[in-house]
Amino acid sequence: MIIHGIGLDTSAKVAFQSHAHTDHFVNGDVIFSTRATKFLSHLKKGGFYKAVPFGKGFYIGDYKAKLYPAGHMLGSAQIYVEFDEFSLLYTGDVKWFKLRTAEKSRFRRADVLIIEATFGVPMYNFPSPKGVEKGLVAFVESSLDRGKTPTIYANQIGKAQEILKILEVHGYSVRTSRNIIKVAKIYEKFGIKFKNIDKDGEVLLREFRVPKVGNFLSELYVSGFGNLKLSNHADFWELMKIVEKVRPEKIYTVYGYAKEFAKILRGFGYDADPLHTGVGLGKL
Ligand SMILES: [Zn+2]
Repeated sequence: MIIHGIGLDTSAKVAFQSHAHTDHFVNGDVIFSTRATKFLSHLKKGGFYKAVPFGKGFYIGDYKAKLYPAGHMLGSAQIYVEFDEFSLLYTGDVKWFKLRTAEKSRFRRADVLIIEATFGVPMYNFPSPKGVEKGLVAFVESSLDRGKTPTIYANQIGKAQEILKILEVHGYSVRTSRNIIKVAKIYEKFGIKFKNIDKDGEVLLREFRVPKVGNFLSELYVSGFGNLKLSNHADFWELMKIVEKVRPEKIYTVYGYAKEFAKILRGFGYDADPLHTGVGLGKL
């Protein structure tokens, strides 16, 4: 979406890119992001990125802005912008609970909230991060007990590094792909070290692909939609906590269950509407 000329995860002359997942990549004369997002994006694309630290005031176009951690992956950011008529918080992809390899998210009050709704219906109620880790360890142990190589599929950027870190904490060595290692090397520049990458590792970590039916005994697909619910997105209940924290007068929902989530929010008394990406904020 483009608001008062500022592209939010949308290409524009002046744009903000919330994080380094390819579906959020943007182009522009200048792209504001965190330093980690800039480095990670440069693995796959060019572009002039202006890196801004969390919590430091800066101007995006003519407007005062600040970035806040979104907790979705290393460097993922929300942007707070003071437009003339209203303040805006755009979450990008966001997580309430702290992940091991992402900065802890922080939320602030704003007049208008644009929030993602990837898992914006109540059936998405993910287990706690501790519970998910237990599930991961149980899978690895049962595969090893059966003499099988535990094989885990995860998104190459963000999720794979989170899995690596969890496996390291639980004492497992991991063999993985060059692409996942390339991303991990950038994480290391930002202080998140991985000591368990080993070409003879006991666990195999691979880039996500479409699950092959019938292989679920020794293969694990890590996604809010997969068979291990380790998600770097907020589930429905986390989204509700974020909304309560921001206390916005107006909410726009984007991505995933945008329509359904807006309807639920209206049921709770919020002024909420889905926003189709690429469309402005109407009268705002
Ligand atoms: Zn993402």
